[in-house]
Amino acid sequence: MSVVRISDDSLAKACGADALAAAFEKAGATVERVSSWGMHWLEPLVEIGGRGFGPATPGDVDAILDGSSALDIGTIAEHPFIAGQQRLTFARAGLTRPLSLEDYAATGGWAGFERAKGLGSEKILEEVTQSGLRGRGGAGFPAGIKWQTVARAAGEEKYIVCNADEGDSGTFADRMLMEGDPFALVEGMAIAGLAVGAGHGFIYLRSEYPDAIAKMEGAIALSAEIVAPFKLEVRVGAGAYVCGEETSLLNSLEGKRGEVRAKPPLPALEGAFGKPTVVNNVLTLAAVPHILAEGGASLYESLGIDRSKGTMPVQLAGNIRHGGLYETAFGISLGTLVNDIGGGTESGRPVKAVQVGGPLGAYMHPDRFDLPFDYEAFTAAESLIGHGGITVFDETADMGAMARFAFEFCAAESCGKCTPCRIGAVRGAELIDRIRDGGRVRDRIELAPQMHNTKTAARSQEDEVQLVEDLCEVMRDGSLCALGGFTPFPVMSAMRHWPEDFGLERKV
Ligand code: SF4
Repeated sequence: MSVVRISDDSLAKACGADALAAAFEKAGATVERVSSWGMHWLEPLVEIGGRGFGPATPGDVDAILDGSSALDIGTIAEHPFIAGQQRLTFARAGLTRPLSLEDYAATGGWAGFERAKGLGSEKILEEVTQSGLRGRGGAGFPAGIKWQTVARAAGEEKYIVCNADEGDSGTFADRMLMEGDPFALVEGMAIAGLAVGAGHGFIYLRSEYPDAIAKMEGAIALSAEIVAPFKLEVRVGAGAYVCGEETSLLNSLEGKRGEVRAKPPLPALEGAFGKPTVVNNVLTLAAVPHILAEGGASLYESLGIDRSKGTMPVQLAGNIRHGGLYETAFGISLGTLVNDIGGGTESGRPVKAVQVGGPLGAYMHPDRFDLPFDYEAFTAAESLIGHGGITVFDETADMGAMARFAFEFCAAESCGKCTPCRIGAVRGAELIDRIRDGGRVRDRIELAPQMHNTKTAARSQEDEVQLVEDLCEVMRDGSLCALGGFTPFPVMSAMRHWPEDFGLERKV
């Protein structure tokens, strides 16, 4: 009997993969637990001899084994969702056992690291810069320049820190990579260590990712001799959104409160424990082994458009028929991702909005679906690619409530260091309520003697809208980090595109 392959990714497990694997074993099959292909709507997905069956339950085992199952999707590698991708970072997805050094080496693992050892620091920096790799965590800063800054910084002790605090709504690529291909992250960090002269790396992971923590700790132990003398360890955070911001992450990693640090100094010069530090996201570091393999930098540079080079593992989530991980070169349009690849909404209703880049991303109207996936194009459209998450909403979504949620989220996750974010987010939620209530009459608070400077006349809806606009400007320009600075994106985009959800008239 052929080997039955079922993912042990936590999403697959949440969908019943463990019970399914046990049912196949009970039926006498040999089961291999592998990484996920990233076709989430088909999980738990069963693979036998390259053919896929999903989503399967223990009740489907007999039919799958005797070849009569209606869940047969054909050869997985030829499925349009997979065949249309350009997988570099996720080249092993669905193909290897996550903690098998044998599988990793047999699929090109360590080739980049071995080559990097022979190249030396300067040449590694050159190739990473040439590839055009930019930080995949959100800011899109060129990785090569960051690495060069750390490499040229004075000091013997330097660190590589992996930001694995994946907290954006609708994102899961970091988790999938760490659970499915953890050696790729180890290899990428070891190469970064060679490039900048760092002997120690930390992977900062959130406690909500127990499977990823276990996989990374397992991979670090198994590969310790291969990457020695480079040393790696996992540091677990409690799961604050703001700890995805690099300086807040460094504070938390050092055991301090997860509060944003003012810059300068840049972490590249004074980062972890005051030493020069590379802070990169999981996807950034996991792209490095491919780039350092023979010809990898040129291939990476040849993909994408303008200054957005290489591939992006896009995460399709929310109300979408074919949710999952889709790695493709930059330049693909938003509409292609949502409608053609994602299949539109799961509910079958028209798409009303998509939010790209997590909870701080702008809500995009379908009339902007021609926008190419490109850092600069998104910036010009007052939005952001962020970590590559796309969350889809159908026509039933209340965008006024979503704008309020943006302020609420900011208020809940604010580290409290600066006023525009700490206080502005709370006032913003109140203003959205007043707009939706049609304005505000003066109340007993404004009549209190200590409020003598306050405008006491009733405020119209237009007055409240102007206040939100002013507040958003202050938050955008005056916040210390992106949490406060980007919250205006979802708020203003929702008000601009769906004024009727705020009780406002649409301007023609
Ligand atoms: S913007 Fe918010 S999260 Fe960022 S430093 Fe200011 S208070 Fe903290």
